[in-house]
Amino acid sequence: MPVLKGLSVSGGIAAGPVLLLRQSADAPAPRRTENPEAELVLLRDAVSVAKTQLERLYRAAPSACGEESSAIFEIQSIMLEDEDFIECLEGTVLGGRMSADYAVFATGRRFMEQLRQTGDEYMAGRAADVDDLSRRLIGILRGEGDGAPAELKRPVIVAAEELLPSQTVRLDKRMVLGFVSRCGAMNSHASILARSLGIPAVSELGEGFYSLVDGEEIIVDGEDGAVVRYATPETRARYDQKRRELCREKRRLHKLSKMPSVTKDGVTVELMANIGRPDEAAAALAQGAEGIGLFRSEFLYFEGDDPPSEQSQFEAYRQVLRDMAPRRVVIRTLDLGADKQAPCLRMADERNPAMGYRAIRVCLDLTDIFKTQLRALLRASAYGRLAIMLPMITCVEEVRGALRLLEEVRCDLRAAAVPFSDQIELGVMIETPAAVVMADKLAETADFFSIGTNDLIQYTFAADRTNARMRYLHDLSAPAILRMIRHVVREAHMRGRRVGICGEMAADLSLLPCYIACGADELSMSPQAVLRVREAVRGLNAADCKALCDKMLG
Ligand code: PEP
Ligand code: MG
Repeated sequence: MPVLKGLSVSGGIAAGPVLLLRQSADAPAPRRTENPEAELVLLRDAVSVAKTQLERLYRAAPSACGEESSAIFEIQSIMLEDEDFIECLEGTVLGGRMSADYAVFATGRRFMEQLRQTGDEYMAGRAADVDDLSRRLIGILRGEGDGAPAELKRPVIVAAEELLPSQTVRLDKRMVLGFVSRCGAMNSHASILARSLGIPAVSELGEGFYSLVDGEEIIVDGEDGAVVRYATPETRARYDQKRRELCREKRRLHKLSKMPSVTKDGVTVELMANIGRPDEAAAALAQGAEGIGLFRSEFLYFEGDDPPSEQSQFEAYRQVLRDMAPRRVVIRTLDLGADKQAPCLRMADERNPAMGYRAIRVCLDLTDIFKTQLRALLRASAYGRLAIMLPMITCVEEVRGALRLLEEVRCDLRAAAVPFSDQIELGVMIETPAAVVMADKLAETADFFSIGTNDLIQYTFAADRTNARMRYLHDLSAPAILRMIRHVVREAHMRGRRVGICGEMAADLSLLPCYIACGADELSMSPQAVLRVREAVRGLNAADCKALCDKMLG
C-alpha cells in the first residue's frame, strides 16, 4: 500500500477522491469547426499565453520549490517550440477542421502515447509533462486562466503542484475535504489558509505527487504528513478510528470555549483569531476566539478580475465587525505583493519581490485603491470595534503617510455626513527588523503593535518563507525572534501600547511560557488553534514562565 510522505501543514484526517487542480473537468469532445482559421487564431493565442505562464513559473519555481522544479516548466516551454508538436496541433485544426481545444487534447494524447512506447523511462516520464501542458492549453482555451480552479461539484481532495492563495481562496471550501501539493512551505499563505479553515493538508510530496491520478481515492493524514493510496479496509478502519479520536479531542476542548484565557496566577493573554474571509468570523467565535487579531483583507482581492468595490469591502468588514461585536476586530490593510499576488492588480514581475513593491508600499503609491479601502473601513467602523493595522511597516514616515490619507478620508466622510466611529485605533505590524529597532518611535505614532513572526523570521534570517529548503532556519529562529519580541513589548509597554503576536509562531505551545514572560497582551492564530492554546495558558503559572524564558533566551 503506497504511502507518500510529505509535510503536515494542517492537521486532521480526510478521505476522498483526488481532484488535480488546473485540470479541465472533462476531456473536450471532438468538435468540428466551420471556421478553422478563427480556431487557429485562438490556438496560437493560447500557446502564447501558455508560454508567458510557463516563463513566470520557471522564474518563480527555484525559490518556491527548489531548483529542479524549474526544469519541468522549461521542458514544457521547449515543447511549445517543438515543430512536430505545433505542426500536429495546427494540422488538426486546419486540415482536420477540429476545434482548438480538441486539437490540443488529441495531439497531447498522441505524443503521450509515443513517449510511453519508447520504452525509455525518462521519455515515458515526459508524458506527464505533455499531459500537464495539454491541460494548461485547454484551460486557457476555456478561459480558466492560469490555473483558476474548476467549479467543484462533489467533495474532493484538491491536489496541485503548489497551491496558490489566489487559487485556494476561489475554491468552494464546502467541497474541499483536504489539500495535497507537490511543494509549498508551512508558512505559505495557502498553508495558513488551510489551517485557518481546518482543512487537513499535506505538502512537499515531491515527485510522488505525480503518481496521483485524478479521481482516485486517497487518505490525507494531516497529523503525520502522509498521503495513503489504495488503502485496504483495515487501513481505512484505522484512519476512521484516528478521526474519531480527533473529534473526541475537539469536543473535550470545546468545553473551554467560553472560559477566559488566564494563567493559574491570574495573568490574562487574550486569544484572538486570524481570518481571511468574512464568513470565518462566526466560525472563529464558535472556536472560542475573543476577537479577530488579524483579518487579512487582501484575500478579498483574490476573488475577482477587478479590485473589490468600496461597497463590497464595506459589506465584508461590516459582517466581521457585526459578527464579533462588541469584541475587537483588527483589520489589516492591503498586504499584497511577493507570494500574495492578486491577479486583479496585475503587478509587474520583480527580481526580488519579497523585498520589493508590496503591502504599505503599494498602498502609499496606489492611493486611490488604498483610500477606497480606508473609506470602506471607516464606514464599517460604525458597526463594531475596529482597529486598523498597517502591514510591512519599516519606518515612522510610512505610518505618517497612512495617517495623512486616513485623515483625508475622514474629512470626506464628515463632509458627506457618513457616520463612522471616532474610536478607531491605528496600529502597525512589526514584521521587519527595522520596525523592531524603531519600536520606540513607532510606539509614539501608532496605537498598538502586532508582531508578524512569519515575515519577521523571513527578513531577520534572510530566509524566504515559501522556500522549503529554508525551513531549518525557520525552525531555529525562536531565540532570536523571542529576543525581538521581548524588546518590542518593553518599548511598547513603556509607552502604554498593547502588543499582540499574529504570526504562525503565536500558536506554538512550546513558546507560550516565553510569550507570557515577555508580557505579550494578545496571541492571534488560526481559529482551530485557539482552544488548545487556551488550555495551555490555563495550565501555566506566569511566575514560573520567567525562569523558563530566561533559560531559552540565554
Ligand atoms: C506575518 O508576517 O507574520 C503575518 C501575520 O502576516 P502574513 O503571514 O499575512 O504575511
Ligand atoms: Mg506578514
